[in-house]
Amino acid sequence: MKFYKDHYDVIVIGGALAGLSSALMLANKGKDVLVLERHNLPGGLATSFVRGGVEIEATLHEMMSIGEKGNRLKVGKFLEDMGVEIDWLDVPEAYHASLPGIEVTLHPGLERFSREVDAEVPGTYDKVLRLLQLCNTVYESVNELSIHPMSKAKMLMKHEAFVKTAGYSALEVIETFDLPQKAVDLLSPYWIYVGNPLSTLPFTIFAVLMADYIGYGSKVPKKLSHEMSLKMAERAEAMGVQIEYRQQVEKILVRDGKAYGVRTARGDEIFADYVISSAYPNKVYTSMIEPASAVPEKAFKLVNGRKISLSAFTVFLLLDQTAEQLGIRDFNVFRGETMDTDEIFRNYLTTGPYNYLTAITLNLANPTCTPEGTCILSITALPRVDGWKQVRAEDYDRVKHETAKTTVETMSRYFGVDLLAHALEVIIETPMTVSHYTGMWNGCVYGYMHCMDDHIIARLQTAEEERVIEHLEFSGAHSISGNGMGPAVTNGRKAAKNVLDTMAAEEASK
Ligand SMILES: Cc1cc2nc3c(=O)[nH]c(=O)nc-3n(C[C@H](O)[C@H](O)[C@H](O)COP(=O)(O)OP(=O)(O)OC[C@H]3O[C@@H](n4cnc5c(N)ncnc54)[C@H](O)[C@@H]3O)c2cc1C
Repeated sequence: MKFYKDHYDVIVIGGALAGLSSALMLANKGKDVLVLERHNLPGGLATSFVRGGVEIEATLHEMMSIGEKGNRLKVGKFLEDMGVEIDWLDVPEAYHASLPGIEVTLHPGLERFSREVDAEVPGTYDKVLRLLQLCNTVYESVNELSIHPMSKAKMLMKHEAFVKTAGYSALEVIETFDLPQKAVDLLSPYWIYVGNPLSTLPFTIFAVLMADYIGYGSKVPKKLSHEMSLKMAERAEAMGVQIEYRQQVEKILVRDGKAYGVRTARGDEIFADYVISSAYPNKVYTSMIEPASAVPEKAFKLVNGRKISLSAFTVFLLLDQTAEQLGIRDFNVFRGETMDTDEIFRNYLTTGPYNYLTAITLNLANPTCTPEGTCILSITALPRVDGWKQVRAEDYDRVKHETAKTTVETMSRYFGVDLLAHALEVIIETPMTVSHYTGMWNGCVYGYMHCMDDHIIARLQTAEEERVIEHLEFSGAHSISGNGMGPAVTNGRKAAKNVLDTMAAEEASK
């Protein structure tokens, strides 16, 4: 008996959030789907690991776009619609900003957040609230337009704020509100969740980020991000999807300009009408298409025209006391020597020490995520891979430990606790760890950088032109909606929708 079927409707490369979202949506429409995952478990970056007998969250700080039961936002709603039930927990605050001259904890809710900024920078309430309301209006337009595309003229009438701000950077729009620098600094910390300095970050992306996180608050799954991956995989299998682990796809087979199957590292050739790839286009076009001559010149121009976004450097510390005992009060601390995002972005080109850190104490949202009497602290910088690529193999261990040491020292000073003296386990994750684990291009976790000429709106406009190999779609942080776990789910859905639309169009033209 053959292990694989003779033919599938769709093969999905990669069983992480994006790939599993594609699989769920296609299976929901009755399609025959095979998911091939190179690891022995699903999830990609949405995963955990075990040290000292404790399961530790590998990546997730907080999920956007979940919403409340009965009023779910788009990611929460998709998972529920697919029958994926996650035990969501509230993140208690937006963030604690620890910046030069600033120590303040801010909470979700547009009005509450504005009041809290006003308490720090008196006289700013109205302006901050108006800015956040503008973000919310743009966010609502983006949500509607991503489902119901419309003509430019109609868009201008119905979505004026969205159209008016679309051509400007976050900084340019914020400047029109004439806020004191301290208030601007208080509005800036989330920039790291999209990875572009405010001077080049399109306002539309900033608006979506602020409206979602500050307007609705964020969540974490009780059983860590792996709860999402495991439950999505389980549900997909229950819906008839075949998922095979430890199957690395080496080649995507192309004939007459159209993908028709894959070859795995084990040598299996498997056939399908469509292929969806979680691997980056850079990797697919440079080494995965067979024959290589099937890749048109235009494909290289397209990937060369995009900039790879950030990777990650994290130190995880399993600590021998509770957060309360150690005096750690905030779930999410953004600790910056500066809030000049251009300066931080330049610093992130290096291997450290990093001048902007995020410290998450997961127990403050998820009290039972570690054994009683302990807590887990993860300290993250999101450097670009450039600096790490220069490190020679023989220097790697030293550089990694030096950067980890300064990272822990910075946060020890901040918390007033010798964190290393309390550490039961210390784990260091670098861009190389990410690259080895997911196989992602340059250890990237955020896909391509959003910039003024390449972000969700521009990508939606050029999507058709970018389909250089027929019946091949891309699904992952590197696709239209960009970085993060929520957007990965949205990207997975979009890839599946493209496949379903093409299927329907081809069927109709027969
Ligand atoms: C430290 C850290 C913190 C983060 N914090 C947050 C956060 O708080 N909130 C948030 O929303 N996001 C966060 N992210 C980003 C988020 O994890 C990613 O953007 C998202 O998980 C990407 O999902 P994906 O499905 O696109 O890809 P990945 O998770 O990278 O998965 C790709 C999958 O494809 C598989 N694969 C690749 N190539 C092949 C092949 N050839 N054959 C078979 N399988 C293949 C890989 O094994 C992997 O399973 C964080 C990331 C890091 C590293």
